[in-house]
Amino acid sequence: MGAREPYYPISRYYKNRFGTKVVKIPVSIVDTCPNRLGLKNMKTCIFCDEWGSAAYEKKQKDTLENQIARVKKIKAEKNKGHKFLIYFQAYTSTFLALEKLRIQFEAALSEVDVVGIVVGTRTDCVSPALIRLWQEFSERSYFSVEFGVQSFFDHHLEFLARGHNSASAIKVIRELASRPTSKIDVGIHLIFGLPNETDDEIIETAKISNSLGVRNIKLHNLHVLKNTELEKIFRRGEFTPVSLEEYARKVKLFLSYLSPEIAIHRLGAVASRWDELVSPEWTRHHLKTYQYIKDYLSVD
Ligand code: SF4
Repeated sequence: MGAREPYYPISRYYKNRFGTKVVKIPVSIVDTCPNRLGLKNMKTCIFCDEWGSAAYEKKQKDTLENQIARVKKIKAEKNKGHKFLIYFQAYTSTFLALEKLRIQFEAALSEVDVVGIVVGTRTDCVSPALIRLWQEFSERSYFSVEFGVQSFFDHHLEFLARGHNSASAIKVIRELASRPTSKIDVGIHLIFGLPNETDDEIIETAKISNSLGVRNIKLHNLHVLKNTELEKIFRRGEFTPVSLEEYARKVKLFLSYLSPEIAIHRLGAVASRWDELVSPEWTRHHLKTYQYIKDYLSVD
């Protein structure tokens, strides 16, 4: 880790890897996931809004090329010389026929200044054929897979209605991340601020992450969005969102046990659709919140 941040930010990882600033462009190519379809009696994850965690819901029906062009234009106005990663983010973006997925990957890589692909998915949406496709693209460009894991504890996964358990998620991540010849960067998303979450669980989460061979982690605080199951639970008074100070403490504890080789995407959730945030209020203030957590991390 360097002197600037008390953790290894993904921006530095990208800078080291690509020699320049890299911006992720989130795109949506599917509009559902196993949970939302109710496969095997699964339910929608309690925190997930109708857009499947997509940041750009109004653009969801647009072509891949247009989605990419729009973000590139905005970024180019602010800064020159960026490279881009195309982030297949919303819903479960591997929940698509392989050949259609291949076409989308090809289209993404054919764009100027695109240096790689990032896919967001679930550990129960992975097949040997899909891994072969990922491997193939990882030989041609940077390729990263980010698994929505959220927790390594089954009681939390049940609360979140994730529809998978911890053991099955760990197995898939370990197998993919520990392949000796693989060039795929494996990342995970975790949620803190779960009901009755203990410090021992946070520490154990860091130790499990270290043992899996993951390269990057995105952290979220559990927050309430409109029209989610969590909103109903919150309105019934059965869930209290974590305070900013307590969340910062949890993040600090987690990072103190996490390998400094693992890059951090984000220290907390960002409410990208302001009108949909119910609670906590601090999730609304991106920069202020980020600075608070960074300052908290810097204090011994
Ligand atoms: S969080 Fe992901 S897996 Fe869960 S309902 Fe939303 S899109 Fe589906």
